[in-house]
Amino acid sequence: MNMPRKRGLAAAVACAFMLALATPALAGDAPTPVAVGARLAQDANEARLVFDLSLPIEAHVYALLSPDRIVVDLPEVNFQLSPTVGRPPAANETALVKAFRFGALAPGKSRIVIDLVRPACPTEVGSKPIVDGASASRLMIELKPCEAAAFAALERAAAPVATGPDPSPPTPLPVVVLDPGHGGADGGARGLGGVVEKTLVFEFCSELKRQLEATGRYSIGMTRSGDEYVGLDDRVTMARNANAALFISVHADTLSEASDVNGSTVYTAAERASDAEAARIAARENAADRTPGNERQAQADPGVADILFDLKRRETRAYAHIFSRGLVENLRGAARLNHNPERSAGFVVLKAPEFPSVLVELGYLSNAQDVQALSSLDWRTKTAAAMVKAIDAFFSGSTATAGAAGGRGVALGGGPTNDPGH
Ligand SMILES: [Zn+2]
Repeated sequence: MNMPRKRGLAAAVACAFMLALATPALAGDAPTPVAVGARLAQDANEARLVFDLSLPIEAHVYALLSPDRIVVDLPEVNFQLSPTVGRPPAANETALVKAFRFGALAPGKSRIVIDLVRPACPTEVGSKPIVDGASASRLMIELKPCEAAAFAALERAAAPVATGPDPSPPTPLPVVVLDPGHGGADGGARGLGGVVEKTLVFEFCSELKRQLEATGRYSIGMTRSGDEYVGLDDRVTMARNANAALFISVHADTLSEASDVNGSTVYTAAERASDAEAARIAARENAADRTPGNERQAQADPGVADILFDLKRRETRAYAHIFSRGLVENLRGAARLNHNPERSAGFVVLKAPEFPSVLVELGYLSNAQDVQALSSLDWRTKTAAAMVKAIDAFFSGSTATAGAAGGRGVALGGGPTNDPGH
């Protein structure tokens, strides 16, 4: 008798999750605010500089002396503005502001610089929605003439002097957890020339971590920080505790009977392997836990009985597929891909329902070309850069194809005539 009601609830829950799935942004994702307009109004007693933004942002303001400038540091902003907007056509003798510049300063950081005619101190700085509840916001910087001493104090402070009437809470960076396979007594696959999987994948993850951190857009976790053994479940638990938004496990394989098989493969989780080869690789990687003294405990899968768990898992797996597709597309230009580069199988480390997870087999240590590639710093750098592009595309919600992330971080309002650096 309860069946119809249960089905109704399940359908409603499914609907809610489908809606969540249709939204490009993941939890913890921070879309880049776009500036679509800027204007300056001023007289002898006051200057108001307003930027029209797609989202509220937090601004940090300080002063620089000789020449006198007000600097407004911001998170990354996509300035869709002509640089000429900051150069008033006629100099006004009574004005406070000579001109203003804006643009990208560093990955994840943008800056507005206001060139002053005479010392002026910020009296109000901050962004607020154009109407209540809207994401579209106005960043306002209000300046009033002030004594040279007060202005100089703003330089010494070099810190936020105003947070505005309605500051948005800082958005935490999305956490990407990198999982270099194996470690310690578990060396993983051994290949031509004595190369060992655990070492190659650790070197790769270290390079990827370095490049991701350099963007300033992510917080990076690693499941091992050196040559140490970490169990498969512990890797997943670490990612869960770190509140991972994306989990990338990195491995390399061997196929002793076919030294011509080569290239990178991206795996996602599935109950049933996409092919026999995927099943073989998952079985081998899952066996990492069966080293003596580390018997893997069989865990009851709660997903069978729990509809919410199942829906959540389906949602994260859909995200994992989106990321996997984008990763393969981005790797295409940097690395050699396997003849079948997108596969799925029942990898233990990919089973978390909370965050999308993929496993990358960088290549085959039984193939001479792959060993050469994986051992080369140049290949690591290029391949890691391609993965950064895929991660950027994934978190920006753009179509996950090569080059789709282009444009982010580009100083649209910058350039030599509009240098925001000083
Ligand atoms: Zn492995």
